[in-house]
Amino acid sequence: MDEKLYRKAISLLDFGPLGRMDCGRLCQKRCCSGTSEDGMFLLPGEEAFFQGKSWCKLEKLIEPLTGEHLFFLTCSGTCPREERPLACRTFPLLPVLTDAGELELQLDSMGLFLCPLVQADNIELLHPAFRRRAMRAWKLLLGDPLLYELVRKASAAKQKQEPWEKLCKMR
Ligand code: SF4
Ligand code: SF4
Repeated sequence: MDEKLYRKAISLLDFGPLGRMDCGRLCQKRCCSGTSEDGMFLLPGEEAFFQGKSWCKLEKLIEPLTGEHLFFLTCSGTCPREERPLACRTFPLLPVLTDAGELELQLDSMGLFLCPLVQADNIELLHPAFRRRAMRAWKLLLGDPLLYELVRKASAAKQKQEPWEKLCKMR
């Protein structure tokens, strides 16, 4: 991964989903309070920024949506905020590529049982600057053909899961 590109994307995403209001106060920071088994997949090459850091562990696993071997980062629920990975900065949004190749940001259905912002099912509740910055960051990142292909694969696989997700929301 291009380091300059990555640093630009993470600086754009240095902004909370609700702006100045800390959304962790809504839920006691549930997305940071998993077990040592919980974590997030990193983008290809992103692991270089976390190797040797004492606050996290890295392990190579198969990412279930794309089938790609990617690094999985686990933490103990705290990290230096300025070092948090892209997945943490983007959540509760998820970049999705439509069939026409357009980038959309959607609420991440993986957070349905975790995050009150996903449960509210209204993307408009997120701060406009957060949405705007996330869109700019992901547009930049998708300029990298490897990342574009990964997001395209994940989006296509996710589309197949949608009927199940709708069922979950109805419960
Ligand atoms: S679970 Fe959602 S509301 Fe809670 S801290 Fe994480 S992003 Fe914010
Ligand atoms: S890396 Fe940081 S922001 Fe991400 S889950 Fe762990 S403590 Fe939370």
